[in-house]
Amino acid sequence: MQVKFLGAAQRVTGSMHLVQCGRFRVLLDCGLFQGKRSEAYDINRKLPFPAAQIDAVILSHAHIDHSGNLPSLVRQGFRGKIYATSATRELSSTLLFDTARLQENDLKYVNKRRRQNQEPEFNPLYREEDVVKTIRAFRVRDYEEPFEVVPGVTATFFNSGHMLGAASVQLSCAETKQTLVFSGDIGRYQDPMLCAPQVVPGANYVIMEATYGDRLHQDDVDAEQQLHELCQNVWKKRGSILIPAFSIGRTQHLVYLLNTLAENDRLPPFKVFVDSPMAVDATEVYRSHVECFNEEFIQSILKEEDRDPLGFRNLYYVRSSEHSKAINQMNEPLIIISASGMLEGGRILHHLKQRIDDPKTTVVFAGYQAENTLGRRILEGAEFVKIFGVEYPVYCQTMRLDSVSGHADQSELIRWAKAVQEAGSIKQIAFTHCELEPAQTLKQEFERNGLPPVLIPARGDYMNMES
Ligand SMILES: [Zn+2]
Ligand SMILES: [Zn+2]
Repeated sequence: MQVKFLGAAQRVTGSMHLVQCGRFRVLLDCGLFQGKRSEAYDINRKLPFPAAQIDAVILSHAHIDHSGNLPSLVRQGFRGKIYATSATRELSSTLLFDTARLQENDLKYVNKRRRQNQEPEFNPLYREEDVVKTIRAFRVRDYEEPFEVVPGVTATFFNSGHMLGAASVQLSCAETKQTLVFSGDIGRYQDPMLCAPQVVPGANYVIMEATYGDRLHQDDVDAEQQLHELCQNVWKKRGSILIPAFSIGRTQHLVYLLNTLAENDRLPPFKVFVDSPMAVDATEVYRSHVECFNEEFIQSILKEEDRDPLGFRNLYYVRSSEHSKAINQMNEPLIIISASGMLEGGRILHHLKQRIDDPKTTVVFAGYQAENTLGRRILEGAEFVKIFGVEYPVYCQTMRLDSVSGHADQSELIRWAKAVQEAGSIKQIAFTHCELEPAQTLKQEFERNGLPPVLIPARGDYMNMES
């Protein structure tokens, strides 16, 4: 048994690991790489293996950096099954169709320019018809229900608490008697809605995410307080708050926090817009998957029959682009939550270009901002940025709201690894889904805590799993 790291290796996006077990090849995740446009174009297009040689895919969760390149795999000849939890399948369907549409729209604009410069036009990575075939290949599996992925390899999903449907994967090879645990993205232990990450038993080798290997989040009570103070301050200035957020996961978490503030009369009367058709769809999926929530949250919904934790007065879900455009004409204080989460595309860019030169605007970063994304540049204090090819001065305020993160922080990553170590017998751990620096910091912490030896693989590196 052997793993080849093909994505999210010494970087955060593009999660993809190839597990070879006997003559079978199982792919863990098939995510989109996000970053510099030219680099992303090449990496996402050229799969590092012939797609037809992959026997099965196991998908940890719906986020685009894990699922977003599945249609390319199918388009290029993959004919196996894609295993995922039920919520992951539904959310992936929403997300992949949206991604296909977004690409075609983005390219219309890019290609117009390329035609003017007499450069060859770009083709979209995939089209909606590829997404249809991809969704057909999905096979839904429950948490904690072992299933055969390929002959001799059994997989089981465990709740990773990162977003609705998110899973860690336990993968056992009958021949070598070795068990690989893939953490997927690890959530928080105190999420207001989702379950805490489950312990995955029996691990001999571990691939684990280390996104925030060098950070400690403030806890969630603070997120509410922070958001409350921010809203008060911005309201006083009659300003607006823009929150770029993944449509799935972060958006619902933010709405839930705002909802809590509203219920406790701690939210000034902003009009709040969730401007993303995908977030509207995803919110419906959230409402229908109670199995993924923690007990406290379920009780709080059951207690009051008509309580909608994802809806309150002054909250508007926006689907149509006309409505979205109308928001830009509004002069009153607003809160706008919209995708993409790293300001790499989507409707948030239209709101940003409208308000980025206004010092009364605060842009709140509630999720991870990868290298070479617009979000990262603004967060790091760029004075000017380009949006749709036009340069704008950055006069808006910025703020980090890490505590709303869907990712475990350093202490939680250590907690997770300790629990997995106790429930198994780990020989080696590989850190993925992280930049090099946080990985190195976390590696030192693992050594200090007596955890098993850590590998920080680069793209193309292997981990051999010997018995
Ligand atoms: Zn994720
Ligand atoms: Zn991720």
